[in-house]
Amino acid sequence: MKILELENYLVSLGEAKFRGRQIHKWIYQKGISSFYNMSDLPAYLRQKLSQSSQISIPRVLKQRLSMDGTRKFLLELEDKKRVETVLIPQAGQNKRYSLCISTQVGCPVGCSFCATGQSGFQRNLQAHEIVGQFLGSKKELQKRLKNTDDKLISHVVYMGMGEPMLNYDEVIKSIYILNDPKGINIGQRHITISTSGEASGIEKLASENLQVTLAISLHACNNNLRDQLIPMNRKYPLKRLMQAVEFYLEQTNRRVSFEYIMLDEVNIDRADADKMINMLKPMLANINLIPYNEVEGLSYKKPSPQKVAQFFHYLSNGGLNVTLREERGGDIEAACGQLRSPS
Ligand code: SAH
Ligand code: SF4
Repeated sequence: MKILELENYLVSLGEAKFRGRQIHKWIYQKGISSFYNMSDLPAYLRQKLSQSSQISIPRVLKQRLSMDGTRKFLLELEDKKRVETVLIPQAGQNKRYSLCISTQVGCPVGCSFCATGQSGFQRNLQAHEIVGQFLGSKKELQKRLKNTDDKLISHVVYMGMGEPMLNYDEVIKSIYILNDPKGINIGQRHITISTSGEASGIEKLASENLQVTLAISLHACNNNLRDQLIPMNRKYPLKRLMQAVEFYLEQTNRRVSFEYIMLDEVNIDRADADKMINMLKPMLANINLIPYNEVEGLSYKKPSPQKVAQFFHYLSNGGLNVTLREERGGDIEAACGQLRSPS
């Protein structure tokens, strides 16, 4: 809940407004989920709240640790559905992490290369469940590392399971809660939302006046191929998607990123690079290349390092601002697109 909602909730219970602020601090700054442990509340109120209200922070059921320090947590929601989140250590020595969170259980988009897309769609997550992934993961990580750094998780990327724009309202609400300076306090510039190209959501986001980074999963620069990879393209083909991106750029003056997974023999030859250069050069966008993480049961292949380098150079010589995303957590199936919702 936003701080205002908590204050109003306490008033509706006949209590003082400031109690809402106290509780907010316990939940969002300290990750406390039991009213009994909120030591600055009077005993009668702790009891009253325990009987009338509930705080739910998802429980970490399982975790795996990769050789590169990436951790994957399996979290259980109230209705026993499960979602995965991934903690990725940042480069450098500051020992801080980026958290990759999910917005849906499964995903209805059904991209042909993605493990989540293959596992079907179960339901949208509510804002408290999205934020709960942060609180549950932070608590567990602090415990594991015996590190109470309040900023242990300093960045959040909406790149776990699900299509954020298909759960728009709850995603936006979760951003406001994560960003609240009196609560979790993640800077908006440290938040990235990735979409498979849901143009109407991009247009809505343009009007929110948020400083978050928008990342668009491009993966192909012609409609035939993009239709096969991302079924969302049939509803919002490239021309329509690019109109939404133009609108976003005009409204926000912010740079966008394009993610491009590299699939061997599918989308990384010279002609693909030329099309991308034509399409994106006028935009001053960042292009993030992601060598495909292979998924069991799917036939797409990761290209060789030579082919990856060649495609990278085509693009950068063509004047695009390109980066290559290093694979993290591949050994524990925590890399992009390897998340599933095991039941
Ligand atoms: N649904 C959103 C966000 C989650 S997916 C989206 O599609 O953008 C996050 C990123 O991982 C997307 O760019 C997605 O295309 C990419 N991805 C999915 N499966 C992948 C895989 N097996 N290997 C590499 N990247 C993958
Ligand atoms: Fe959903 Fe994104 Fe996976 Fe496509 S790539 S199925 S949109 S999670």
